Amino acid sequence: MTWIDIPANSQFGAESLPLGIFRVGDEEPRMGAAIGDQVIDLAPVASAQMLDGAHFAEPTLNAFLALGRPAWHATREWLLDLVRNENNRDAVEPHLIPQSQVTMQLPFEVADYVDFYASEHHASNVGKLFRPDAEPLLPNWKHLPVGYHGRAGTVVASGTDIIRPSGQRKAPADSDPTYGPSLRLDIEVELGYVVGVPSTLGSRVAVDDFKDHVYGVVLLNDWSARDIQAWEYVPLGPFLGKSFATSISPWVVSLEALEPAEVALGKQEPAVLPYLANDRLTNLDITFEVYWNGELVSSPPYREMYWSAAQMLAHLSVNGASVRTGDLFASGTVSGAEKNQRGSFLELSWGGREPITVKGEERTFLADGDEVTITATAATPGGTTIGLGSVTGRILPAI
Ligand code: CA
Repeated sequence: MTWIDIPANSQFGAESLPLGIFRVGDEEPRMGAAIGDQVIDLAPVASAQMLDGAHFAEPTLNAFLALGRPAWHATREWLLDLVRNENNRDAVEPHLIPQSQVTMQLPFEVADYVDFYASEHHASNVGKLFRPDAEPLLPNWKHLPVGYHGRAGTVVASGTDIIRPSGQRKAPADSDPTYGPSLRLDIEVELGYVVGVPSTLGSRVAVDDFKDHVYGVVLLNDWSARDIQAWEYVPLGPFLGKSFATSISPWVVSLEALEPAEVALGKQEPAVLPYLANDRLTNLDITFEVYWNGELVSSPPYREMYWSAAQMLAHLSVNGASVRTGDLFASGTVSGAEKNQRGSFLELSWGGREPITVKGEERTFLADGDEVTITATAATPGGTTIGLGSVTGRILPAI
C-alpha cells in the first residue's frame, strides 16, 4: 500500500521500486526510483532527512551498486517506508516528478558484458536452423552455461535508434561472400543481470554468493544480424553480427524486489559438476511480451530457462576471471516450448521460411522504421505482479 497514486495499468507498483538515472531538461542526470508514473528524486529527499546520499546525485548507478548488499537492502527499506508511510508525504511529494517530464539515461556504466545461451528451447531451435543435419544441442550444452564476451561499449539505453548494420554474409547457395546492409536483422529477448560488488582476480564466485555480487536485472534486447552471424560465427562465436548494439531498459529492478517471484530451478540432467551444483538454485517467474510495431507477437516465459543466473556467474568466474562493478551478463534468448513463446524472429519465422503476420503484413525479419518494444512482469504467489518496465528501439536505414 502506498499514499502515492498509482495508475491501474502501471508497471511499477509499490513493490518494484526500480532505480535508474533520469534527467530533467538541462539539469544534471541523477538517480531516481520509479513508482506509478512518477520518479522520486532521491538526492533531495535523502538530504532533507540528513542521510548520507552522495551516490544519489551521481550520473550513474555505479557508486550505489558498489556499496553492496547491506546498503542495497537498507535503501530498499528506506524507499518502502517513504512510499508506504504517509508521514513521509510532505518530505517526498515535492520531489515527485512525472515520468513524462524526464529523459531516462543508460542506468550504469557498463563494465564487461557477457551473453549466455541458457534457454534449452532457444538453443535447440537455433541448432535445428543453423545445423539441420546435426544434433540440435552440442555435447557441452547441459554441462556448462555456454556464453561469449560481448561488446560493453555498444550497450545503449532504451529508446536509442538502431542503425542497420552492414557486413559480410554468404548464404549457403552463394559462391562468394558479399558486403552490404544486413538482410536478416533480428531481436533477442533476454534478461540482463547487473553486478554491483566486484570479485578478486584469481578467486571464484560460488553459486551461494550470487546475491552478494548481483544487484538486480534489466530487460535486454540483443539485436542480431543473422546473415552476418551465420557466416562469421564458426569457429570462434558471435562477433560483428551482435556487437553493433544491445539495448537495455532504463530501470534496474533489484533481486530483493523479485524474491517473491523466485521459483525452483527445473531438473538438470545429467547432473552438473560440483561448482555448478546447489539444491536451492532458483529461477524467476517472469513473462516477457514482445511488441513488433505495437502488435504483440510473442510471450516468452523466463521460468523455463535451463540454467540459473547463479550458475552463470559461478561459471563466468570459475577460471579466476574477476567481475567488476557495472558488469552485465545476459541470460541468452528466452524462448518457451510454444511457437508464440519464441524470443527471436529467427525462431518465430523459422529461419524466414514461415512468415508471421504483423499489422496485416507478412513479416520475417526487421524492416527499416520498425520498432520493437519488450516488456516484462514477474508473478508472485500472492497475486502481486512486479513490473520490470520496457526496452524499446527503432531501426534506421544502414549508413
Ligand atoms: Ca543473445
